Amino acid sequence: MNKRKRKAVIAGNWKMNMTPDEASAMISELRELVKGKRGCEIVLCVPAIDIPAAVKAAKGSRIKIGAENVHFEEKGAFTGEISAKMLTSSGVEYVIVGHSERRQYFGETDETVNRRVKAALNAGLKVILCVGEVLAQRDLGITAEVLKMQTKIALNGVPAEQLENLIIAYEPVWAIGTGRVATPEQADEGNGFVRSAVEELYGKKAAEALTVQYGGSMNEKNASDLLGKVNVDGGLIGGASLVASKFAAIVDAAQ
Ligand code: PEP
Repeated sequence: MNKRKRKAVIAGNWKMNMTPDEASAMISELRELVKGKRGCEIVLCVPAIDIPAAVKAAKGSRIKIGAENVHFEEKGAFTGEISAKMLTSSGVEYVIVGHSERRQYFGETDETVNRRVKAALNAGLKVILCVGEVLAQRDLGITAEVLKMQTKIALNGVPAEQLENLIIAYEPVWAIGTGRVATPEQADEGNGFVRSAVEELYGKKAAEALTVQYGGSMNEKNASDLLGKVNVDGGLIGGASLVASKFAAIVDAAQ
C-alpha cells in the first residue's frame, strides 16, 4: 500500500506536565493554528487530571484527546488506576500503552502491555502502542529482535479486525527526551522492523495499512525529514507537544 493511503497521526504526549488551566490555554491556542489542517489526525495525550479540561477545550476542533495509560481490569481494587471505561466515558478517544517511561519506572512488562492493549481495544479506544530498544540493545545489534519481540507479545491475542484502532510508535529509548534524535534512516528502519513483525502476525495487507509513528526528540526542525520516510506515518512527540506553535509546526510538516 502506498504511504499516502495510510492515516498520518501526529500525537503529543504531555507526560506529567500542564495543569488543567494550562491545558485549556494551550489547546485554545493550538486549535486556531491547526484549523483546516486535514492532512493528518491530531491527538494530544494528556495527564488524567487534565482530561475534562482538554476535552472541553478541544470540542468542535480537529484535536482528539488521549490518555497516557490505562489499566487492564474493568474495575476493582486498583488504587490510583484508571479503567478504559472511565476514559471513554470522559470523551477520551486514544490511549498510549507501553511507553518506555512506564516500562522503566513503573514496572510495565511486555505481558502487562499486552493486557492493557487488549482491554483498551475491547473498550473501543484507539491504542498508540510504544515499542523501542535501549541503547545497549542497539549497540549489541539486536534492535530488530527487540522490536519484533515487543510487538508480537503486545499483540498476542489481538484479532485482525481490531488493527484499524491500533497505531504503533517506534520510540528508541535513547532518543526520548534526550535531544538525540534518530536519523531519518534509523527511524525508517525501526518502523520497518515493526511493520514486518505485524506482517508476520497478520499478513502483508494488514502490515501495509498500519500507521507506524516515530517518537524520540521529534521537533519542528527535524519533523519533515523524519516524516518524509516511507515507513514513518506520523510522530509521537513529548517535549515539543507542550508548546502550541511547535506542535502546530509538526502538524504542518505532516500535511
Ligand atoms: C515521548 O515521550 O514519547 C517522546 C518521544 O518524548 P520526546 O519527544 O520529548 O523525546
